[in-house]
Amino acid sequence: MQTDINLSIASHTRTSSLNIKMKIGLALVFLSLLLLFLALFNQIQHPALLIIFFIATIAGSLLYTNGLYANTTAGIKNNGVMFKSISNRGAIAWVLGVALTALYILLYWYPELLGLHDNANTGLIGFFDPVSKLLNGHPASQWFVYGVLYTLTIILLGIKFIYKYRHNAYQVKRTISVMFFQLIIAFLIPEILGGLNMPYNDFKNMWPLNYYFFYDWHIDQLLGSGGFGMFVLVWGILSVVLISPVLTYFYGKRWYCSWVCGCGGLAETAGDSFRHLSSKKISAWRIERVLIYSVLFFAALMTGLVIYQYFTKQSQVLFLDSFKVREWYGFYIGAAFSGVIGVGFYPILGSRVWCRFGCPMAAILGIQQKFFSRFRITTNGSQCISCGNCTTYCEMGIDVRWYAQRGQDIVRSSCVGCGVCSAVCPRGVLKLENGPQKTKKLEGPILYQDGQFKIVE
Ligand code: SF4
Ligand code: SF4
Repeated sequence: MQTDINLSIASHTRTSSLNIKMKIGLALVFLSLLLLFLALFNQIQHPALLIIFFIATIAGSLLYTNGLYANTTAGIKNNGVMFKSISNRGAIAWVLGVALTALYILLYWYPELLGLHDNANTGLIGFFDPVSKLLNGHPASQWFVYGVLYTLTIILLGIKFIYKYRHNAYQVKRTISVMFFQLIIAFLIPEILGGLNMPYNDFKNMWPLNYYFFYDWHIDQLLGSGGFGMFVLVWGILSVVLISPVLTYFYGKRWYCSWVCGCGGLAETAGDSFRHLSSKKISAWRIERVLIYSVLFFAALMTGLVIYQYFTKQSQVLFLDSFKVREWYGFYIGAAFSGVIGVGFYPILGSRVWCRFGCPMAAILGIQQKFFSRFRITTNGSQCISCGNCTTYCEMGIDVRWYAQRGQDIVRSSCVGCGVCSAVCPRGVLKLENGPQKTKKLEGPILYQDGQFKIVE
């Protein structure tokens, strides 16, 4: 049995190489990408080739993962991340970023170029028609194709993530959770509901992330769908006013951002190779605060106008038009920010750009996490050796080491509770806890300046 022994912990040592399983795995993944490419240009449209696509993707990914981790001992292996083109903003990262960005632009604004047509789909979308007809009885849409690829990515890279973090029960459990919520709750149930002519609904996607929930057409659709529609309406409102606040009080925002949410699910699985790219600069933190609360304000304003218009039938309030504002929100936030920038820029800006700078749901949960929640990360400061692993791999750009060195609790509104800082710490300094609120230390970091100790607000 070949064992990959790497005794070096020095970051300048590059030891990785492709073994035979990884090479076959990569070849199969390239085959599946080639099939998608040929389908895009309408060169292949056959169910048998679609089956080959799924087999090649799944087998290739599993084989690569097995080849990568099977002969290694359990434990974090991030050796060489700063030397790989894909994980250190090299040429491959830029190519991937441009390709993802282009895909999102096509999905949102030019789906006809992907093959979406009223009479009969062609191209990439037509390639997936057989799966769509099997699940909901209709030809595929661009969002169906996106849903299939998105779910497949979370499942396969989720398995890779579990293999990598197999020594850490928290990481294994929460990854199984995001895989379950994506596959069953976000993908299969809504598709089956669509096939039964019931309102399409992702039960975990709540306002303000689901920004169209209070739109007039959506409310009318729910009210016109009998008991089920009423259930969805009540569930959607209860999720916002009761379920989410209660769970956030007990567990912090991690219950949603790292265990349930689809955006978080993609960031944690597909984005794992890019988490260290998040900026830790103070300037990034300042931009984060302004942007995320501005988006929350925009979402609240837009929803207020939509509800006002629903009850009064008047779309104009002062100088604002309800239809215009929702159009702006859909374009700038719903499409450009959360989709194009949020995922397209993974290889350049890190995996949680949307969650950190734009998600209004994360903003609300963050305020609650900071002031009305039992969640905190406790630090056993005396054990910290200041290696900085925790800060490096914090995808939200939090300088975790700063707190660990001082033995202070980490109570930050932006922390999504992914637990990776704790998983990568070689000294067991960090612990994610849900203790009584009165024992949570909310004071800011201590700063020694001008001969005095101060608490930074
Ligand atoms: S502080 Fe730790 S748990 Fe919180 S987001 Fe950063 S890495 Fe994840
Ligand atoms: S808390 Fe752990 S990972 Fe972070 S600097 Fe200290 S020893 Fe390193």
